[in-house]
Amino acid sequence: MRKIVQLDEALSNKIAAGEVVERPASVVKELVENAIDANSTIVEIELEEAGLSRIRIIDNGDGILPDDVETAFKRHATSKIKDESDLFRIRTLGFRGEALPSIASVSRFELKSSTGDGAGKRIVLEGGAVKELEPASSRKGTDITVSDLFYNTPARLKYMKTIHTELGNITDVANRLALAHPEVSFRLIHNDRKLLHTTGNGDVLQVLAAIYGINIAKKMIPVQGSSLDFTVKGFIALPEITRASRSYISTMVNGRFIKNYPLANSILDGYHTLLPIGRYPIALLSLEMDPILVDVNVHPSKMEVRLSKEQELNQLVAETIKNSFKTRELIPSGPENI
Ligand code: ADP
Ligand code: MG
Repeated sequence: MRKIVQLDEALSNKIAAGEVVERPASVVKELVENAIDANSTIVEIELEEAGLSRIRIIDNGDGILPDDVETAFKRHATSKIKDESDLFRIRTLGFRGEALPSIASVSRFELKSSTGDGAGKRIVLEGGAVKELEPASSRKGTDITVSDLFYNTPARLKYMKTIHTELGNITDVANRLALAHPEVSFRLIHNDRKLLHTTGNGDVLQVLAAIYGINIAKKMIPVQGSSLDFTVKGFIALPEITRASRSYISTMVNGRFIKNYPLANSILDGYHTLLPIGRYPIALLSLEMDPILVDVNVHPSKMEVRLSKEQELNQLVAETIKNSFKTRELIPSGPENI
C-alpha cells in the first residue's frame, strides 16, 4: 500500500507561485529582471489596474531561441546556470528557473520572442497549460503580456490591496531596478500615465532625479571606498535632507537590490551624530564583491542574501560615509571622531 504521490508539474508550479508571485509587483520584478539578464537596453512596462488586469513588458534584449520557448515554462528550466559550481558564482539576477512557470500557472500568459536572426515564436498559456504555439514576428527581443493575474487562485486575489497600494509596490520595484541599471532605459506606464522614464545614459544621479526630483538629487553627494574584498560606490543625501523611515536607504550587492539590516545600520553609523533622532537619510549604495562572498540562494524572491566578512563590509561602509562628510567638514576630523 502507498500513500505518498509526487505532485504533477502544474500543481507544483502553482505551489511555487505562492512564494515567487506574491502580487503584481513580484511579476514586474521577475520579468524585468529577465529582460535585464537578456542584456536589454530598453524596457517598457505597461500596466492596467495596477497590473491586476494586465502587465505588459517589452524588451529589446537577446530574445529566446524558438526551440527554447516552450522549455522556458518548465520548472527549474534556465539558461543561466548549468551545474552546482555556477550556483556559487551567480552574476545574473535570475537562476532558479521558476518565474515563468510560476507566473504562467496563475495567469493568462502570452510571450513573443525572437533572437533577431530568423523567425521568432509566440506562446499562449492559461493557468500554465499551453494553448497556442506558433511562429511569430522577428523583431529582436521579448514581448510578454500577463493578463488576469490570480484568476484561478481566488484566495490570493482576495488578498490584494487597493490599486493605490499595488501600484506603489510596482513603482518601488521599477525605481529600484532603474537605480541598479542606469544603463537601461525604463518606461513605466499605468493606464496611459507615465510614472517613470529614465534615459539609460548610465548616469545614476539622473535616475535619482527622475525618482526623487531634481531638488533632492542636487543634495546628494557621491561616495566611494574600497577594502581588500569590497568596493562601495553610491550617492548619499546631505544630512539636512531626512525622512521618517528607513525605506529610502537602498543597498545593492553586485547589481541586485538587497535588504540587509546591519548594512543599513552601518550607513546610519556613517552619518554619526548628523541625523536627528528618528530621522533617516536617503542613500543609494552599490557594493561589488566576488560572488563567492554572497549567498543569494536564501529565499525565492532573492531579496535576502547572506554576506561573508560582514564586519569588514560594515566597517568599510560606515568609514566611507564618514570620510565623505569629513572631506566636506560636516564632521570634524579630530581624533575623538575616529
Ligand atoms: P531564470 O530567470 O531563473 O533563468 P525564468 O523562469 O525567469 O528563470 O526564465 C526562464 C528562462 O527563459 C531564462 O533562463 C531565459 O533563458 C529565458 N527568458 C525569460 N525571459 C526572457 C527575456 N525577457 N529575454 C530573454 N530570455 C528570457
Ligand atoms: Mg528569471
